[in-house]
Amino acid sequence: MKIAFVASEVVPFAKTGGLADVVGALPLALEDCGHEVIIVMPKYKCITDSKFKIKRVSADILSTVVGEKTKVYFIEQDSYFNRDGLYVERGFDYKDNLERFAFFSRRALDLLKEINFTADILHLHDWQASLVAVYLKNLYVFQPFYSKMKAILTIHNIGYQGIFARDQFSKLGLGWDLFNVEGLEFYNQINLLKGGIIFSDFINTVSPTYAMEIRDKEFGFGLEGLLNVRKDSLSGILNGLDYSIWDPDMDKFIVHNYSLVNPGSKAYNKGELQKICGLPVNNDLPVLGIVSRLVEQKGFDILAEGLDEICKMGGQLVILGTGDLKYHQILEKMVKKYPNIISLNLKFDDCLAHKIYAGSDIFLMPSSYEPCGLGQLISLRYGTLPLVFKTGGLADTINKHNGFVFSKYTKISLLKCIKQALVTFKDKLKWNVLIKNAMECNFSWEASAKRYSQLYVKAKSA
Ligand code: ADP
Repeated sequence: MKIAFVASEVVPFAKTGGLADVVGALPLALEDCGHEVIIVMPKYKCITDSKFKIKRVSADILSTVVGEKTKVYFIEQDSYFNRDGLYVERGFDYKDNLERFAFFSRRALDLLKEINFTADILHLHDWQASLVAVYLKNLYVFQPFYSKMKAILTIHNIGYQGIFARDQFSKLGLGWDLFNVEGLEFYNQINLLKGGIIFSDFINTVSPTYAMEIRDKEFGFGLEGLLNVRKDSLSGILNGLDYSIWDPDMDKFIVHNYSLVNPGSKAYNKGELQKICGLPVNNDLPVLGIVSRLVEQKGFDILAEGLDEICKMGGQLVILGTGDLKYHQILEKMVKKYPNIISLNLKFDDCLAHKIYAGSDIFLMPSSYEPCGLGQLISLRYGTLPLVFKTGGLADTINKHNGFVFSKYTKISLLKCIKQALVTFKDKLKWNVLIKNAMECNFSWEASAKRYSQLYVKAKSA
């Protein structure tokens, strides 16, 4: 089948979150299933020709190849994309984000015709590409070239919907008949993700549990009603993990490689991590790792509340992340209080992330909601036991046989779960069984790609 991915970020070219990891890896797994895939994304400032062997295709289109033959097309429009950030700079959203991604969506559709890529499926990602479905079904479908194309929208996080003021609607080039409750209007504003949900043939999200949860008021961020209307076209497919990047046996960022059959060297990575983080080097002290955006969604509200108590439990805490200033400040204060217990690294650092996944004993990921989550999947692969709240993709991947799960989103439940994990840590026999179970889990892209293939077949014949 011919599949065109349209996305605003793709590993290794540009990344702000898990979406980029998915769009970087899934096309390659689909290529292995025999599909012909292309990816279309904006040409941002961080994407340089020298770094990625990019060739010019036409006046505003550049291209490169990933995997065997998956072509990536970059849409170049410097006034929109040649900036330091992808969507945000110094904490502020770009004021012209609606125009930027409306332009991107239309240009992506036009590009398909220019390169004569008769896609069976347009696989769109998040609000930034949602307008592709809106334009396809309202403007392009009347042209024979586009008439048979089906749109699938993947929602990576329904908390981000692309909401803009109503007075920008005319910039979309759509009729005002689409600005109503059955269209893109959302409480008198424009909601791009809503447009994507309405006009895509199928909608999916990144775990089965999250696909159920977003139909509830608690998780749907106002779109639960619409998703219930479209429930027969909504599914959940768990993300995979790129095992060529996340493999403790081959990982170049860690000093001591290890694997399921030879797990002994994990302890050396722990010592190394304690050393570089300036913490006492002691294998008997459990290390709790965090690699995360420092935002409420990732559990930092209950973590911050319970931090004092966590620091008194006899373990060490290594934190890597950036996010809300509020949490930067709380954590900085706590490091001053517990310099031998907490290592705080307020930055984005891929190398340190690998070292934390390899060197920690427990990976803390108490997200209040989590569409899929990659951190827990990486941790499993590295034999670092995830400790999670039972929600979304965390509920679908972590259980008492490969980690620790609490099911009430409160500080008390979190602390109870950490205590239980620390007690288990002392029971080496039990701990090693859990590590083995964790490392035996298989969340590679292969299985996910098969499920996506089935969805594409269903969409094509719908
Ligand atoms: P998100 O909601 O942020 O997309 P995921 O768990 O799905 O959460 O994916 C986060 C990805 O970003 C993981 O690969 C994680 O290791 C990585 N990551 C997050 N923060 C940092 C950081 N400060 N430095 C390096 N990698 C990070």
